[in-house]
Amino acid sequence: MLKIYNTLSRKKENFTPISKNQVTMYVCGPTVYNDIHIGNARSVVAFDTVRRYLMYRGYQVKYVSNFTDVDDRMIDRAAEENVTVFQLADRVIKGYEHDVSQINVLPVTVRTRATQFIPQIIDFISRLIEKGYAYKSEGDVYFRTRKFQTYGELSDQSIADLVVGASEHVNLEEQSRKVDPLDFALWKGQKGDEIAWDSPFGKGRPGWHIECSVMSISELGETIDIHGGGEDLKFPHHENERAQSESLTEEPFVHYWMHNAFVTTAGDEKMSKSAGNFITLHEALKTYDANFLRFFLVQTNYRKPLQYSKDSIAQAKRNYDRIAETSRNLKAYIDGIEPTKTDKSNGSSLVEDFKKRFVEAMDDDFNIQNALTIVFEYLRWINKEVINQLSSLDELNNIQNLLIDWLGILGLSEPKTEEITDQEILDLINQRDAARESKDFKLSDELRDRLLNLGISIEDTNNGTKYTKK
Ligand SMILES: [Zn+2]
Repeated sequence: MLKIYNTLSRKKENFTPISKNQVTMYVCGPTVYNDIHIGNARSVVAFDTVRRYLMYRGYQVKYVSNFTDVDDRMIDRAAEENVTVFQLADRVIKGYEHDVSQINVLPVTVRTRATQFIPQIIDFISRLIEKGYAYKSEGDVYFRTRKFQTYGELSDQSIADLVVGASEHVNLEEQSRKVDPLDFALWKGQKGDEIAWDSPFGKGRPGWHIECSVMSISELGETIDIHGGGEDLKFPHHENERAQSESLTEEPFVHYWMHNAFVTTAGDEKMSKSAGNFITLHEALKTYDANFLRFFLVQTNYRKPLQYSKDSIAQAKRNYDRIAETSRNLKAYIDGIEPTKTDKSNGSSLVEDFKKRFVEAMDDDFNIQNALTIVFEYLRWINKEVINQLSSLDELNNIQNLLIDWLGILGLSEPKTEEITDQEILDLINQRDAARESKDFKLSDELRDRLLNLGISIEDTNNGTKYTKK
């Protein structure tokens, strides 16, 4: 049975969705003021993998994620670039969608944008005011945090802790409009001529937290199965989402709260825009193959920090290459086998065993690291006992299909035989030139053969090595 670690209860719980065969999932998306970095991409990949595994387990997954397309940072950035907030959002969203599709992230079922839910947000806030959970103050609207009895439970903080925390981040101007320092903004009154919408509370725009409550409830209902995001969203964002949603509906907002850990860089520092130690997904895709990046992002259990460095990407590349190579070799072997040949063999029960062990690993709160151990064991078995050994086509297809299923869950593309870029060809040629220069003819011959196998023939001329593709 699938178990998921629930941040709220701080333990692994059996997963029972609200509807038998369907899972509702809401994952907080980016604020679209600039390109996402590798740290943000990890969250996207972690929840894409959760979704893929749930689909593999037979659930239909309704997956909703948002773009925060209006907030202070967007307003500031749009002003700097002399464009409207909408123009900025449209441009960043286009880049985001392109980049995440490169690393094989499935398109969401529904993508919501905060600015498309303004009437619903206004209605939600109005009802919170009617119920006494929110109040107007000089054009803003605030949520009465202490009125929600279990506030702090999700992020495991007491009200006393929160009071201390709030006193450390005082915005005096805003504080003067709040009844209690713990209260948070649901609606922000317009300042100057910044972007604003009409509302019964005056012209303004929604606070950040309210949009996710409204979009989740509008698209998926009052209670959903899974709500996910990076662990930095636990507090205050998710704590506030939970407080305002449950105050209004008097129903549990979310059954399973999931949070992924950060990507860290040298010195275990969190990768972030503010620390300036980030690399954007867009930049990374210029340097690294999308499959290596996907492998890098998916390989570590989602609740553990993932260290980003050139070495860790190189390691991910080696591991991905192992999978790709075996997958290609197995395919070539199957393609080359005579269809009539149906020798008896006993691989089937082993395949079932591998399949079961992979599911057991993933059922344990998506334990990718254990699942990958099984994948690599499977690759060794294929190389040793299957290729050139087994020849029952049914069995071989069965063995290949399991590998394809796993690649699908991990979000890795099926390796293609003919896929070699010009840069990769040049790299191999340069390696061969270097081998010849150092008189390592064995290596240089091996590299020539490898190129030939890839359909590349080379010719040594006075002007260097030339190559032609077959
Ligand atoms: Zn959110």
